Amino acid sequence: MKPVLALIGRPNVGKSTLFNQITKSRNALVADIPGLTRDRQYGDATYENKSFIVVDTGGIGESEGGIDAYMAEQSKTAIEEADIILFVVDARAGLLASDEQIARDLRTLGKKVHLVANKVDGVHAEAAVSEFFKLGLGEPHHVAASHGRGVQQLLEDVLIELPEDVPIDEQEHIKGLRLAVIGRPNVGKSTLVNRLLGEERVVVFDMPGTTRDSIYIPYERQGKQYTLIDTAGVRRRGRVNEMIEKFSVVKTLQAIKDAHVVVVVLDAREGIVEQDLHLLGFALEAGRAIVIAINKWDGMSDYDRSQVKEAMERRFDFIPWARIHLISALHGTGVGDLYPSIHRAYESAFTKIPTPKLTKILEDAVEQHQPPMVSGRRIKLRYAHMGGLNPPLIVIHGNQTDHVPAAYKRYLENVFRKVFKLEGTPIQIEFKAGA
Ligand code: GDP
Ligand code: GDP
Repeated sequence: MKPVLALIGRPNVGKSTLFNQITKSRNALVADIPGLTRDRQYGDATYENKSFIVVDTGGIGESEGGIDAYMAEQSKTAIEEADIILFVVDARAGLLASDEQIARDLRTLGKKVHLVANKVDGVHAEAAVSEFFKLGLGEPHHVAASHGRGVQQLLEDVLIELPEDVPIDEQEHIKGLRLAVIGRPNVGKSTLVNRLLGEERVVVFDMPGTTRDSIYIPYERQGKQYTLIDTAGVRRRGRVNEMIEKFSVVKTLQAIKDAHVVVVVLDAREGIVEQDLHLLGFALEAGRAIVIAINKWDGMSDYDRSQVKEAMERRFDFIPWARIHLISALHGTGVGDLYPSIHRAYESAFTKIPTPKLTKILEDAVEQHQPPMVSGRRIKLRYAHMGGLNPPLIVIHGNQTDHVPAAYKRYLENVFRKVFKLEGTPIQIEFKAGA
């Protein structure tokens, strides 16, 4: 599990500015999940070979009544999950009562808190921050987030104890096809996970490691190895105190990042809501292979079923390559059928196509349907090669490639999909000008 760094503080101290600085230009995947997190953000960042998830938490310190309880719960979950807490205060505004309240709340968590005094630009920093010592959280780090000042130093200081990344492929207890089951609360994730694990005679390997690691469940089915990345907390639910784990955006993001294939679970009875689309959007943005499972298909009238089916297919017509399954995790109906689609998606995501073959198909496609003229000259597409897998990245070289219209790119994508039978995975196409 990646460490989680949470930014905490009252409104306007500069948390989101700092968030942007930390995630900026570091190839960050930033999930802005409105509805799920209100305006809060989750980002994925790397600093000197150490990756972590940054959470700009809201809620804390904001007016009690104004916050939707669920959102407050999300912030609390994020704080509980955090390994590193940055408590941001405003050096210009000085120490306020609400800062002291937050400091008290943080102390009860018993976690290491780093105090960050922001907006030290244009003020006498030493004098401005001196009163923050009263918070009893040690010496504040000085930053001016909007100028990017002090941010590198801050990261260096707070990340010092983190180990360097061990790529997931090199972690020996994580084997085979990595499968994540994601979805908003109550759609039936843990019921499905139990089905997936319980189906046939699955051998669940005993796995050492910390509690955080326990979201990876290696198992074997029909001679194939898998690791299920459990965002639903199934493992812990079985424990004595039967604690129902809270839905966690951080865990969902982590699971998506680590997975080869993501099963997105939806609830047939509730249809598609915004949260579903945001979670799906994040999986797409991460380039993951996807299988959609519409759950709770049992006990519905034929009429309702056909209505739901039609509505779902319409809503997902922007990803026609993703297979949609209608299942009942509760009864096990249709669950086994997920596996062939999961494998199809996995194989597609890792399809290697030799350059001559790819170029040949490109030439055929261009012959069938020429790219348009741009100021009197035709766009030329010369050859194509693969630039990456999972998702497949197809790099096309040619002239005036900046002007390739989106519709033409889609046309090529469809051709490649059809010819190479790429199903269940997004494809990236990149154009490069020059030889
Ligand atoms: P949040 O509510 O804690 O997320 O705060 P924001 O990041 O939205 O920042 C609140 C305001 O403070 C914005 O107008 C920022 O431009 C400003 N701000 C943020 N960082 C700095 C800084 O380092 N110096 C100054 N002078 N202003 C800043
Ligand atoms: P999670 O929060 O996404 O992990 O959802 P759970 O697996 O805990 O399921 C939430 C509720 O939906 C539970 O009461 C389940 O019994 C119920 N549920 C899950 N799958 C199905 C299904 O296929 N059909 C029906 N009718 N109920 C289901």
